[in-house]
Amino acid sequence: MDKIKMTTPLVEMDGDEMTRVLWKMIKDILLLPYIDLKTEYYDLGLVHRNETDDQVTLDSAYATKKYGVAVKCATITPNAQRMTEYNLKEMWKSPNGTIRAILDGTVFRKPILVKGILPYIPTWKKPITIARHAYGDIYKNTELYAEPGSKAELVVTGADGQEKRALIHDFSSSGGIVQGVHNLDESIRSFARACFNFALDQKEDLWFATKDTISKTYDHRFKDLFQEVFDTEYKERFEAAGIEYFYTLIDDAVARVVRSEGGFIWACKNYDGDVMSDMVATAFGSLGMMSSVLVSPDGTYEYEAAHGTVTRHYYRHLKGEKTSTNSIATLFAWSGALRKRGELDGNTELMDFADKLEQASIQTIEDGIMTGDLTQLSTLENKVTVNSEDFLLEINRRLQKLL
Ligand code: NAP
Ligand code: MG
Repeated sequence: MDKIKMTTPLVEMDGDEMTRVLWKMIKDILLLPYIDLKTEYYDLGLVHRNETDDQVTLDSAYATKKYGVAVKCATITPNAQRMTEYNLKEMWKSPNGTIRAILDGTVFRKPILVKGILPYIPTWKKPITIARHAYGDIYKNTELYAEPGSKAELVVTGADGQEKRALIHDFSSSGGIVQGVHNLDESIRSFARACFNFALDQKEDLWFATKDTISKTYDHRFKDLFQEVFDTEYKERFEAAGIEYFYTLIDDAVARVVRSEGGFIWACKNYDGDVMSDMVATAFGSLGMMSSVLVSPDGTYEYEAAHGTVTRHYYRHLKGEKTSTNSIATLFAWSGALRKRGELDGNTELMDFADKLEQASIQTIEDGIMTGDLTQLSTLENKVTVNSEDFLLEINRRLQKLL
């Protein structure tokens, strides 16, 4: 068989620890034998980020802007312990944060469903994708303790020096707390566009919710801007695609999500997304089955796994033990990126390969061959736990039959 050709490179961002080990195995076993893989390689492993003063992270993000599609391995976000472990010059920032800021992107997390691993919520038959707004609100807050007897006011000074003033609270009877938060029209519009684009890309309904009945200026602005962007830019395309934009109150949304069958995208304000993405991920089963894609409003895509570098498994790997680490989310990052590259380049062979790679992976698990995290959850009767490498070899056996 001739290898599949690529016309445009993918941006490849290598990473750390156990996922770096899986990365190489995936390429060697499942990609390089079939594809004339064309990537622009950036090593985002912590050692190389430190050597380049993190320049490599910036370069990889700009390359993503240039080529439109990237695939990223999980990376270490340094903390105090990593400073000594890796002898770092500085406590480098989270690469994901840096890349997200440069691409002005929104993260969509989508679980991969397989037979035998049932969501904790029995009505969920299809994936629920969560999109979290990644700017502002309490994550960029200013907060103070107000002493008894003090008074807190909200003041906005205009360019002309004019003040708008509102009493927050008179703390005469008790001390208390005050917090100032903000968001930006442009960031909300970008978020809305990323969500509407992704809904069209996935051909799924988009849900959005805030607490606009209580927060009549702040949350209401989110509601209004989403509606404005939808009406002026997306309404017709949604109709043509046969999908809907649905707005409701956040508490109603939570209740409906639990009763739903899944199969939609749920856009969340920053805090709602923080909380709900962990809830939804846990309810769907394993972190090893959660995929993630960063989409920018101008349509660039960066695919990755939602989990981290699986440090505990890596330390066992370093001692020479065989680990049973789930590579599905990382594998789906590759298949997602290859499919998108194929779509943009009109390369149907590449798109077809991505579909078959996913099919072979799911078939392997549904045949009862899986990694340890999944055997714990699976209701299949004849299930066996295999190590990280054997799992990929089993996928490859099935892939060969499909190709
Ligand atoms: P983690 O790597 O996601 O792992 C947490 C635990 O979840 C693991 O110890 C393992 O449990 C289980 N797990 C996660 N992925 C798995 C997989 N593919 N297969 C099997 N089990 C899996 O989170 P962490 O330990 O909090 O973080 C480790 C490093 O990753 C940190 O340095 C952090 O900065 C980084 N991180 C990076 C990203 C990213 O690049 N997007 C995201 C999150 C964290 P058991 O040990 O019980 O088997
Ligand atoms: Mg969270």
